[in-house]
Amino acid sequence: MLRSVILRHSRTVTRNNWVASEWKRTFRSDKIEKQTGLFGNTELKTSESLNKLPAAVKSSTDSLIQELLSPSSNPRTSIEIVDDISNEICKSADLVSCMFQDSKLKFYLFQAECVRQLHCESEFREAAENASRKFCELVESLNTNTALYQKLKSSEVTEASRLDDVDRRTLTLLLDDFEQSGVHLEDDQKSKFVQLSSEIFEAGARFQENCDRIVPVGKFDQAKYGLPSQIYSPVSNSLDRSKRKMVYNTFYRHDDQQEVYLRKLVSSRQELAQLTGFESFAHRAQRNSLLENYDNVRNFLWGVVEECRSAFEKELAVLIDVSTQCSQQDRNGDNDVSTIAEHDLGFLMHLYRESAYDIAKVSHESSQFFTFSSVWKGFSTLTQRLYGVRLIEDPINHGEMWNTAGVLKLKALDDQNNELGIIYADVSIRPEKAVGDCHYTVRCSKQLSNGTWQMPILVLSLGLVDGHSTAWKDSGISFHSAETMFHELGHAMHSILGRTKYQHVAGTRCPQDFSEIPSNLMEYFFSDLGVMRDIIRRPNQPNEQLPIESAATLLASRHSFTAIETVQQAAYGLYDLEVHGPIAAPQIASGRMTTTELFYDIMNKAMPHVQRSPDSAFQHRFHHTVQYGAKYYSYLVARASACLIWQQRFQNEPFSRKWGGCWAEVQSHGGGHPPAILLEKILGFRPTSKDLTHALSKESQHLANLDAVTV
Ligand SMILES: [Zn+2]
Repeated sequence: MLRSVILRHSRTVTRNNWVASEWKRTFRSDKIEKQTGLFGNTELKTSESLNKLPAAVKSSTDSLIQELLSPSSNPRTSIEIVDDISNEICKSADLVSCMFQDSKLKFYLFQAECVRQLHCESEFREAAENASRKFCELVESLNTNTALYQKLKSSEVTEASRLDDVDRRTLTLLLDDFEQSGVHLEDDQKSKFVQLSSEIFEAGARFQENCDRIVPVGKFDQAKYGLPSQIYSPVSNSLDRSKRKMVYNTFYRHDDQQEVYLRKLVSSRQELAQLTGFESFAHRAQRNSLLENYDNVRNFLWGVVEECRSAFEKELAVLIDVSTQCSQQDRNGDNDVSTIAEHDLGFLMHLYRESAYDIAKVSHESSQFFTFSSVWKGFSTLTQRLYGVRLIEDPINHGEMWNTAGVLKLKALDDQNNELGIIYADVSIRPEKAVGDCHYTVRCSKQLSNGTWQMPILVLSLGLVDGHSTAWKDSGISFHSAETMFHELGHAMHSILGRTKYQHVAGTRCPQDFSEIPSNLMEYFFSDLGVMRDIIRRPNQPNEQLPIESAATLLASRHSFTAIETVQQAAYGLYDLEVHGPIAAPQIASGRMTTTELFYDIMNKAMPHVQRSPDSAFQHRFHHTVQYGAKYYSYLVARASACLIWQQRFQNEPFSRKWGGCWAEVQSHGGGHPPAILLEKILGFRPTSKDLTHALSKESQHLANLDAVTV
């Protein structure tokens, strides 16, 4: 019932438990009276206040449930009341939920989650963890509340005349979320559903624990290849090809235990899909998505592979040239230079980039231009020109944030200076920060009963600077970090522009293939030579732009080998789809096929010129199979959609206020309309899987013209 998606890239999420004593000293809970509470909420000044929240929220949701189930006629529709229940939990507790498809605790509560992961005071982190647990229980009890579900289900008919398109869509999405808990099933099916969900959770958790396992290296190989006793990654940048091969294949070697967990995960998902009336889990996962069904997804992914093939081969030819030059330098290496293997790709790309672009020099030059401040100000310049929305820095009151070192509060204002939302950007690098780069929706926008809008609050968590440094706002950040900032600020702006009646579909609360479009589109703006030079200015010297040669080199390096990376992503998407698909899943479940065989087969078809070992099992380390379950391809769809929007509407006129306004309007609907309808508003047509494929292929052709280099 409460849903939202934690927006994270495929970056690894790690937690370092080491807490430096200096940090402890600096952020020790002080006893000075705070001016305000967390996020400006005066109720949240102390850790005890967090502890009291769940009970208060329970009491307000109880009265809303009473209102919903009351037999007397109500001027408010059921969907309005249920959205209020959802909002009550998110808003009052400042918690937002996060849905993991298979998680036993289907919903993680988010602001508590946000505080738990980011807060510097351990009392707050502990209180947030307790509150999270209680909220999970509350949400779980609501999700399995049959009376609530039935009332909402029957409102589809009984209140039909009072519902518009957005009401109906939100209702469908809410019911769908309820049904994820099996609430609609008969009793015997319900217990089977619960059992399968639990098996999926267990198998997924065990599988993920092992994904990053360290591999021991035998004494012989240690001596032969000059390796340590353990390897932590598949990458070896050694010139010796046999050493690269050995490291890669050892790291990715098929693992029987991982295969057992994966088989269990796949077979339980297959059974669960069939129990709920779907041919396979891959079919079930496509509900409410842009491509709508399994066949379209399959066509899209194979289409990407086929249409990017010629650009892929051009890039591969460049790498073969680099490989030939290397083998002439490597007397021990094997001399079969006409082929490229999986373990060569990363190394050869790295060599090419080092030689083709003088990255060290260019990075040094550009470091004076890319700072935390220059990048957010550049983003603000862009959104002001596109949407008339700008960001301004606002002082943080004592108590409002966990700390002020490395945290900036930004207010979003429209061109009449109306406040649209708040972004807290926590960019300090510190050991107790639990997560990688990500974006939290702390409070969504929603139309309130008095006609005004609930003000959205967002938190961006990035590890960019030393927050202790007095000049942290102007410390240099890498080009990659600057691009990531644009991505995350793109998510935040999606929420800020939200103008939905319901919080259930506000801003980024939409299918993932759509929710990643605004953030990806911002990367396209950032990657445009003219736009980047125009909006990013040297701090304190606003007339100084990044030299054109440096900017062009950074972008060329960033986009080299796009076709290889795109085809690789499509192949991973295909594996994730087919392992849950109608043909492979039953064979894997019954032990007639291993996931390693499936993976090998798909990779060979998608990248036929790249050699690989049949025993190599990248998929045994692929966390995303658990998190995305037949939807890993969503990122590629979002990128393709953003690419199409960029090519059609902004490439020739990047600061177009007309199309900027149109895109802002599209974003304001959040998930209130199906993604296809929203894309039609900006593109003028509903993109098919072919249109999306074509956009990516056009981009890869354009970028594939790499010059030969001497390494
Ligand atoms: Zn994202």
